[in-house]
Amino acid sequence: MGTSMGLEPSGGDGCPFRVNDEKYIVENLKTCENALPGSMTADELATIDLIAGTYKRLMKVDCTGCGYCTPCPFGVNIPRCFSLSINYHMGFKHLMNRARYGIELMGEMGRTPGHAALCKNCGKCMKACPQHIMIPEELKKVSKTLGGFRTKMMLPPFRLMFHTLQMARKIKKGNN
Ligand code: SF4
Ligand code: SF4
Repeated sequence: MGTSMGLEPSGGDGCPFRVNDEKYIVENLKTCENALPGSMTADELATIDLIAGTYKRLMKVDCTGCGYCTPCPFGVNIPRCFSLSINYHMGFKHLMNRARYGIELMGEMGRTPGHAALCKNCGKCMKACPQHIMIPEELKKVSKTLGGFRTKMMLPPFRLMFHTLQMARKIKKGNN
């Protein structure tokens, strides 16, 4: 086949790759025009199987981020819990995803908490999920991986940085 698909690393929103430019769509359409049944070699098919298998193994939850499960009556930010967990397990910026979970979802820096441990297992979200994900069960795993001691340990320096910045802003404002 030879033509590369127009895939680019994403900005860390849960989707590891995306087609984000018209030129990629044109390129991909051209590829599809020439890609007749049986045109891939055994090696190419084996490579696709390998990649698909690796993704399947690393993707701990099949969440697409569609958001149909929201809002959770107990405030769990379900899509964000899953996107950070997926990125974490895929190996993209391990520490960064742990820190983001702590800062974004655990009520740091004035944010509304939305972490996985807030789940009360009411089951409302599961009825809406087109992927039929056992959301409360999966959230327990997210909480175990990302909501524990190692994440909490990372937060004090961020807190200090946040308060220092706030103080600096106040001082600057007072001097003006
Ligand atoms: S099962 Fe958990 S995450 Fe789902 S709606 Fe109920 S409390 Fe929210
Ligand atoms: S409805 Fe299901 S797939 Fe969509 S964001 Fe919620 S958990 Fe993910």
